[in-house]
Amino acid sequence: MKALITGGCGFIGSHLAEALLARGDQVTVIDDLSTGRFENVAHLAGHPSFHFAIESITNETVMDRLVSECDRIYHLAAAVGVDLVVRDPVHVLETNVKGTEVVLRIGARYRKKLILASTSEVYGKSTAIPFAEDDDGILGATTRSRWSYACSKAMDEFMALAYHKQMALPVIIMRFFNTVGPRQTGRYGMVIPRFVKQALRGEPLTVYGDGQQSRCFTYVGDVVKAVVALSEEPAAVGQVFNIGSTEEVTIEELARRTITLADSASEVVYIPYKEAYEAGFEDMRRRVPDITKIGSLIGWAPTVDLDGILTRVIEHMRSDNGSAVKGAEPPGPAMERSHRPIEDR
Ligand code: UDP
Repeated sequence: MKALITGGCGFIGSHLAEALLARGDQVTVIDDLSTGRFENVAHLAGHPSFHFAIESITNETVMDRLVSECDRIYHLAAAVGVDLVVRDPVHVLETNVKGTEVVLRIGARYRKKLILASTSEVYGKSTAIPFAEDDDGILGATTRSRWSYACSKAMDEFMALAYHKQMALPVIIMRFFNTVGPRQTGRYGMVIPRFVKQALRGEPLTVYGDGQQSRCFTYVGDVVKAVVALSEEPAAVGQVFNIGSTEEVTIEELARRTITLADSASEVVYIPYKEAYEAGFEDMRRRVPDITKIGSLIGWAPTVDLDGILTRVIEHMRSDNGSAVKGAEPPGPAMERSHRPIEDR
């Protein structure tokens, strides 16, 4: 199997590349390193079955060649992270909508199976518990940038399903619920790498809002197993799947558990959303996946619980020669950040 991974230098993409190489696939990665990092795949660079192109997926000439040469496309390239979405919505919309349009069009030209990474954000601020794949998404106003990400990924899903319906393109859509694990950076807002870094540095853990919002964090290794198994399952084609853990935790409890597991003396501080992101920011209170569909089709369920995830992230950040811990500060409040050039953030 020759796999093409768009966004393969990113957090999930790099773990997927490892898993596919381990089972004997040829893997080509395309990544423009906008949020991905070459260090994520540096250890794979000498592997005879690993190839990479540092290029944007909007480069149609390069994409045409790479897609024509592969058997299957894992489309993970996207601008992600709530912090990035609020700071740079133009980049988010252009990457997610234009980029996916190119991948689908060229995928259809060569009729290649396409596995599309989507997100639980598409459910928006729906209060359903849990979210099933056919449930309604409820998106907020266009004046609130946060929803631009959800909307861009919903558009990706619409486009993929339209290509499937009209052009018989074999597509599978995966909605990830807060995928976490080693190599994820806190630079774009993700809470676990931020909390672990803060705890290891002995700095206060920054809980946004009242900390009573909850999430279900899913280990990247479990997510990759689901992605690989779904891509092998013919009955998955044309379908949407939630991929997530059902272990729910409030962000306040997450902060306390991180402090305990990291054996840290850090305190917890509460930061209003308007300072953390922007005025009028809307967060989801709860977000729990219904994973019946993927469970019935391929028998998948998560295997690593939250304490297991936190322990692995803590170990990874500690063992990374301390560089992850010593590295640049996570972004501060939005007002400060907006004065910094994008390249510096
Ligand atoms: N969050 C927080 N402190 C941080 C970063 C994030 O309290 O330093 C909160 C954020 O407001 C959200 C939750 O943690 O309620 C999960 O945030 P993340 O960006 O990781 O994922 P989301 O579920 O928002 O996509």
